[in-house]
Amino acid sequence: MIASRPATLLNDALDVVDRAIPQGTLSRRKLPLREAAGETLAADQLSRLELPPFDKAAMDGYAVLEGDRRDRYQVLETVAAGSTPAASLRPGTAVKVMTGTPVPAGAGQVIPIEHVRSQAGGIEVTRPTDRRNICPQGEDVRAGDVVLRAGARLGPLAIANLISCGITEVEVFRPLRLAVFSTGDEIVDDPRQLGPGKIMNTNGPMLALLGRRFSMDVVTETSLPDDRQATAAAVAAATGRADLVVLSGGVSVGDRDFVGQALADAAFQVHFTSVAVKPGRPLTFATRPGTAVFGLPGNPVSVYVMFHVFVRRAAARFCGSPWPAGEIPLRLGCDFRRRQADRVEYVPCRIGDDAAVAPLEFHGSAHLAALLAADGLLVVPAGISLLPAGQLVRFVPFTEGWR
Ligand code: AMP
Ligand code: MG
Repeated sequence: MIASRPATLLNDALDVVDRAIPQGTLSRRKLPLREAAGETLAADQLSRLELPPFDKAAMDGYAVLEGDRRDRYQVLETVAAGSTPAASLRPGTAVKVMTGTPVPAGAGQVIPIEHVRSQAGGIEVTRPTDRRNICPQGEDVRAGDVVLRAGARLGPLAIANLISCGITEVEVFRPLRLAVFSTGDEIVDDPRQLGPGKIMNTNGPMLALLGRRFSMDVVTETSLPDDRQATAAAVAAATGRADLVVLSGGVSVGDRDFVGQALADAAFQVHFTSVAVKPGRPLTFATRPGTAVFGLPGNPVSVYVMFHVFVRRAAARFCGSPWPAGEIPLRLGCDFRRRQADRVEYVPCRIGDDAAVAPLEFHGSAHLAALLAADGLLVVPAGISLLPAGQLVRFVPFTEGWR
């Protein structure tokens, strides 16, 4: 019986996933930048422009020649936004500029408008300053600089940066296709179908929505009975239509847990069926060329947590993205103790007003309501039964770090 093998260590399991999914294999397509929100870049993006594109005024004021310090200047002209200076600066002259307009050649300083007084034909400096108030051309970005690397996801800030660098079309990976199967004779989708022993199917909608949140194309969201043949047929049919298949339930050692066998029936190579992690131990991973399958345990908390630990990681591999967990070190707000320390544990936590991580009260893997208050997961390493208050700990936020 495959499930009776010892659990795979979490890091080994993650390595297996990384090795089984070659990086960046999805096909690519060109998209107008404005249509690429949420997509993942398939190529590094180099700036076509220098930013700023010219030596520009940082303030409204009067541009004067480098080193030309005096009390009075003759004003030659005014440069408005969108135009360039026509006059050439000479000692004793100034050109009036606005914030963001080009300064004349040779300018070494913009004297702020607040530091001068108008006079007939010119200005008098009332408050000398050493500040240059000029942003040199290319100070922020040089033409040819890498603005964003392949694997970056395109959010509002990424797109705005690319636009500012003159990029209007990008090469992106096609969206990852996700198939979701919820197994279990007990699950129903309509409360009117509830009866003795039946429960609502929370995993199917949750997985589909998680997939969409991470820009996947959900090709199916289907409930399956606890039936080996039906499961094998469904997964086989999804192969080729989906890059990633996520099943919930049926991966344990119960009489009616058929997912492992069904995957083998459907000619998948089963890499592991149990991982030393909490929640989520009976977790199955299998592949066929082009398709990867996760069989997640049925409890909704395990599903939510393991999606973030495993499914997001696999999705990132397909797109050649760096691992996107955005793990951050934070201080623990109170002692964390546990009796059994044999597994890595992911504990739903809230970040308190004191900026410290506080584990949430949590009854077990079915207690999905506890997650409503969670900001993310505290990672408790294997072998650790006490994490003292104040300790720096690993924290995995539920929100993704893309901008
Ligand atoms: P299993 O892994 O199939 O043994 O399921 C473990 C637990 O998760 C059982 O209590 C199931 O009733 C529950 N469960 C399984 N699938 C779902 C689902 N789609 N939605 C909510 N709970 C589920
Ligand atoms: Mg089940």
